[in-house]
Amino acid sequence: MNENQEQPAGRRPRVVLLASPATYRAGAFRQAAARLDLDVVQATDTPQALVERWGMPLGLDFTKPDAAIATLAGYAAQHSVDAILALDDSATLLAARAAAALGLPHNDPDAALAARDKWVMREALRRGGIPVPEYRRYPLVTDPALVAGEIPFPVVVKPVRLSGSRGVIRADDAGEFIQAWERSRQIVLREGESLDRGELLVERYLPGIEVALEGLLTNRSLQTLALFDKPDPLEGPFFEETIYVTPSRLPEATQAAISTRTAEAAAALGLREGPIHAELRINDEGIWLIEMAGRSIGGLCSTVLEFGAGISLEEIILRHAVGMPLLSTERSGGAAGVMMIPIPKGGILREVSGREEAALVPGVTGVEITAPLNQPLTPLPEGASYLGFIFARGESPDAAERALRESHALLSFRIEPAITLVAVG
Ligand code: ADP
Ligand code: CA
Repeated sequence: MNENQEQPAGRRPRVVLLASPATYRAGAFRQAAARLDLDVVQATDTPQALVERWGMPLGLDFTKPDAAIATLAGYAAQHSVDAILALDDSATLLAARAAAALGLPHNDPDAALAARDKWVMREALRRGGIPVPEYRRYPLVTDPALVAGEIPFPVVVKPVRLSGSRGVIRADDAGEFIQAWERSRQIVLREGESLDRGELLVERYLPGIEVALEGLLTNRSLQTLALFDKPDPLEGPFFEETIYVTPSRLPEATQAAISTRTAEAAAALGLREGPIHAELRINDEGIWLIEMAGRSIGGLCSTVLEFGAGISLEEIILRHAVGMPLLSTERSGGAAGVMMIPIPKGGILREVSGREEAALVPGVTGVEITAPLNQPLTPLPEGASYLGFIFARGESPDAAERALRESHALLSFRIEPAITLVAVG
């Protein structure tokens, strides 16, 4: 719906949010919807068997898209729906297909796939002339020793459809490659990939610094909402996300070139509407696309973003989705940063201490521990979550970054080994 289209008098616009069960994003979207007085319906990915057993009104199994689209269409026939929004990677493709079926503004499903599947993305970017590292995909059944003989090192092995750096592993020689391959292969198999149909991507490792760009597409035109520096080195073997700081400290010209490159990449993928989150690497050879997703930033990171007179990122995305005026998309509130607190080792989280001290560090605006006590923790490359998040503001990006590091150093996590029972006899 565009900005000039009027809502029928008295009806609140209704948005369907598609979320994965593990999403961190639902709270922020619900709050934003409440501020905008939108009617929100959340559909969380649920296995078909449970949907049937519980008789859920809007139960969707994202792995069965045809059935999920039929359910959404049936729902929309009874309750008018103005927008369908994916909160995480798991539903971007479903949201595009369902919106197409319902005649709502949407990304082309082919474009949504290109922003979801890393192989399709590489192909589309290369065709569009966007710099990407050399890449090849191999079936899961491939003997990694044979691959090791035909690729130049260093490389990165990565699953085509996971996120949050799961299964992304750097290898500098044949021995490391065989190990990385096996580990990444196990991860995708455990995620339900089939041994005979699954694939892994192998790419040249790109040295350089990394940034993340948060943007919004409206009728194919990109607005950069925020550019984040990632000041911790991301050199592998695993690629743990930690600190994001905005505004970027890169020269203005580089920042402008990053926005231009991102807009070109969105065009190459065929994306048209809605939020994008892009990751790029910058080195002497240029500005390279690591990836672009058709969703907003993950985790609780958007907490540190604010636009105009206190508008949240989620409000901007919802306004865009239902055709309300965007007001300001100019970032406000000064320099800000967020730290995704990584899981340092596997085990059971027994105790978190230093929370009060960590929260009192000047500049720190919040410390949220999201990992539950007495539950198993899985670090990268297998794991998919964080211990929590630290948020900070500062006079400058450097000050915000310092506050995050100081705060993190005051936290301590007691993680005990998980006890494995061994049957004897
Ligand atoms: P995911 O969707 O799991 O986040 P990405 O492709 O974004 O997968 O990879 C995760 C991280 O791994 C990136 O942010 C980057 O730091 C690193 N990485 C991925 N591919 C490369 C590459 N070709 N060269 C260097 N680093 C890479
Ligand atoms: Ca990524």
